Amino acid sequence: MTDSPFAPLGRYDTRGQKCTYSPGDIPANDCQANATWHILWNATTADASLACDPHMAQARARFVFVDTHRLSPDCGMPNAAWGFHNKRCYYLDDTAEAAVIAGAAHDGHVKETAR
Ligand SMILES: [Zn+2]
Ligand SMILES: [Zn+2]
Repeated sequence: MTDSPFAPLGRYDTRGQKCTYSPGDIPANDCQANATWHILWNATTADASLACDPHMAQARARFVFVDTHRLSPDCGMPNAAWGFHNKRCYYLDDTAEAAVIAGAAHDGHVKETAR
């Protein structure tokens, strides 16, 4: 182990994030379980929630939502984008999601030149 005085800075670790289920939206009713799912309720307003397995199951049974995916390190972070393709949140410098976008653009270009 090295003794570097610099903290190993990086993206925020979300493993401690809790399920946001809270009937009545009061602290006494907060679900204390660790979140395992990220739910996007409205893509326009970017309303999203974190849910544990039982509350994700309840949401699936009762409510409509835009998309959901397993909680990942970038979920809930400022400026992170919702990844519909790869089913996780990501930053615009994320090469895996960028490859999907580039692939889609390439397909469009091929069709355009074929005309
Ligand atoms: Zn819960
Ligand atoms: Zn997410």
